[in-house]
Amino acid sequence: MPMRTPYFVVDETALRHNLEILKDVSERAGCKILLAQKAFSMFSVYPIIRQYLAGTTASGLYEARLGHEHFGGATHVFSPAYRPDEFEELLSYADDFVFNSPAQVRRFGPLAKAAGKSIGLRLNPECSTQEGHAIYDPCSPGSRLGTTLANFDEDILPMLDGLHFHTLCEQGSDALEVTVQAFEEKFGKYLHGMKWLNLGGGHHITRNGYDIDLLVRIVTHLRETYNVEVYLEPGEAVVLNAGFLVSSVLDVMHNGMGIAILDASAACHMPDVLEMPYRPPILNSGEANEKAHTYRLGGPTCLAGDVIGDYSFDQPLHIGDQVVFGDMALYTMVKTNTFNGMGLPSIVWRDASGKETLIKSFGYEDFKTRLS
Ligand SMILES: *Cc1c(COP(=O)(O)O)cnc(C)c1O
Repeated sequence: MPMRTPYFVVDETALRHNLEILKDVSERAGCKILLAQKAFSMFSVYPIIRQYLAGTTASGLYEARLGHEHFGGATHVFSPAYRPDEFEELLSYADDFVFNSPAQVRRFGPLAKAAGKSIGLRLNPECSTQEGHAIYDPCSPGSRLGTTLANFDEDILPMLDGLHFHTLCEQGSDALEVTVQAFEEKFGKYLHGMKWLNLGGGHHITRNGYDIDLLVRIVTHLRETYNVEVYLEPGEAVVLNAGFLVSSVLDVMHNGMGIAILDASAACHMPDVLEMPYRPPILNSGEANEKAHTYRLGGPTCLAGDVIGDYSFDQPLHIGDQVVFGDMALYTMVKTNTFNGMGLPSIVWRDASGKETLIKSFGYEDFKTRLS
């Protein structure tokens, strides 16, 4: 029986391809690489990822628990502000705590140290290297993410084991190089004497054309100059191009142009298409008017803007045809919602032999239980 659409399918061969690259980087650079779970938390495949990466990083209590219980290895956590009612429990899951401000270090650092944890401070090198995606730039003016040099408090230095920055998004090692220079100018003096430095995520390491040699040189320079252990915590790069969202055409209509309504929704199933925004790739499609038949593809919700984009195909679309979106493992499954009472896409695993297994499907209860 064919799988019921829509469903996410994660591909073992593509996943392992990325993981091989990351493992090679960690060996050549002598650094540890952690999975940033906020991009991808399909824990049924953690045993595979664990063969290549050193551990996980978490945005808070739930991800830390998931990483601790299903991945193992190193469990790091960063939060812009920790909750006092959760901190005790968090201590039972995470080993390395990154704080956002000296005040957070003073408030929670002693508890973490008493529990034998390693602690660090996230810094803001105030060096923007990205244009266009302001909501992904932690160095933008007024940013709440990371401590600036002006706000650094040398009194907390004796408590700190490490330093952290995260400023990149889908960027190359050239942007990292610029950022590391700014970081060293501002904070290099504090890095001497630390045990570790975490370079955050946003490294598009598994993208074609990423300059891995430069990354290796940067990490090696940092390790040798400051005698620190270096961590990278990519999310995207781990599952880049390793997943698909398979949808079906529910109706085809016309209003000045061809329109196809899919059973997958931008608003519910790939909200970054609207939020970031970006145009997801579709297998065997072209830009509007590039191929013979152009359609505006939209979802089945009431939102007028639930539109994925305009795409063209060699053949006309018919009811029941499948439309397959690429690069749908990262920041998708973790962001789905049931707006309009939409069902959540199933999750399917395609193993190296091509066999597809249904890992999880969702129903009415998943919609209902969050609402009362
Ligand atoms: C988002 C985030 C990551 C992962 O970023 P990717 O762009 O998915 O690589 C890592 N560390 C921190 C602190 C983050 O906020």
